Amino acid sequence: MAALHTGLSVAPDNLAALPRGAGVYIFQGAGQLPLYIGKSVDIRARVMSHLRAPEEASMMAQTQRIDVIETAGEIGALLLESRLIKTQHPLFNQRLRRVRSLCALQLHTTPQGQVPLIVDGQSVHLGATPGLYGLFSSRHAATGKLKELAQQHRLCLATLGLEKTSARGCFGLQIKTCLGACVGREDRTVHDARLLSALVDSQVEVWPFSGPVDLIETTADWVQKHRVNNWCYLGTWCSRAGDTAPLVDFKPTDFDLDSYKILVKPIMLQSVRLEPVAA
Ligand SMILES: [Zn+2]
Repeated sequence: MAALHTGLSVAPDNLAALPRGAGVYIFQGAGQLPLYIGKSVDIRARVMSHLRAPEEASMMAQTQRIDVIETAGEIGALLLESRLIKTQHPLFNQRLRRVRSLCALQLHTTPQGQVPLIVDGQSVHLGATPGLYGLFSSRHAATGKLKELAQQHRLCLATLGLEKTSARGCFGLQIKTCLGACVGREDRTVHDARLLSALVDSQVEVWPFSGPVDLIETTADWVQKHRVNNWCYLGTWCSRAGDTAPLVDFKPTDFDLDSYKILVKPIMLQSVRLEPVAA
């Protein structure tokens, strides 16, 4: 990877040299691939806990050195860990299942009422299209969630398009899990309002800025700026002496679910310092 400033490299018998602050650590073995990548707000304490875990003894025995990238805060550590695991494929990290096409639910207005449809990143712009709910790793997962919500909220599967309609109403009507939207017993607008309130907690937030912003984290004496755009992590600039170049040098990619999960709360709740990036 280009321009990755690892900062510190520590031998496994010299753990006292590990910093007590936030960052990412990489267990390096003899091979080409790193053994394990993790993050913590206290790197030394976290690495020690790996040593005490009996099920990790074999991994620790193979570790020849521990590379450390310090970060000014926890968000930086999370962003960097996620990106490094994706690009370096460490042997002992849990394999992340590759998501080929992220899906979301979108309500479509028909003459009868609102119908949820499954859309994916090819048909909508995730992070920019409002009114999306999810996200899901497959169409199957999206359908599963919709069925689960229908059960919890006593929605009608036929009305949602998940079951064939018949004059006698849906199967749920017979077993009293449907309130009767399929036979006109429940007003369709009431059903649709209940559908919307069932979905609202899983709304996909639209990127609230017109372009990239820097998320700023500081410690007592240094600063890091994590550049993000459309919920995508682009790179980190660090004020520490010698780090005048970007710490990491990522290219903008498509909407990234991991970065979205890391960033959505701090950005929407405005619990982090953000700075617009001059065009
Ligand atoms: Zn029904």
